[in-house]
Amino acid sequence: MAASLLLFSPDPSPLLPSPPQPRVDELDERWQNLQAEAEQRNRQMTLLQAEAEQKDGLLALLQAEANQREGAFSKLQEEVASLRVAASSSAAVAREANHGSLLCKICFENEVGCALYPCRHHAFCLPCASQLLQRGQACPLCRRQVENLFETYPG
Ligand SMILES: [Zn+2]
Ligand SMILES: [Zn+2]
Repeated sequence: MAASLLLFSPDPSPLLPSPPQPRVDELDERWQNLQAEAEQRNRQMTLLQAEAEQKDGLLALLQAEANQREGAFSKLQEEVASLRVAASSSAAVAREANHGSLLCKICFENEVGCALYPCRHHAFCLPCASQLLQRGQACPLCRRQVENLFETYPG
């Protein structure tokens, strides 16, 4: 306590070392240091801002990408939906074709019920084939004379 009182006394004893007076060049150095520090902070700030802007840009890019993916996804969903429709319709066509192959090729009403002789075409119902036979007509598919017919049964 006594020492510090002495330090701040207006008339310090010459025996005591004078309080360290910062020299001008030291002050200058400190000032320069402060300036350098300030510049460094400014640079850091600029860097941080640049980084933030970059992150903003990145975020925008990511969002754009996400939007694009969403668009692609919905497009894919549409595609899948249309493919499903196409598949079901082609299945329907196949069923129809299959069913059609079982229908008489003359009347398209009755199911195939007999085969012609001698060509053995198996595409007509019994009434239609009987008419062909009775009228002495040829097989509509191969133009061979129908001489006889025999009934057939689905397996
Ligand atoms: Zn028929
Ligand atoms: Zn035939």
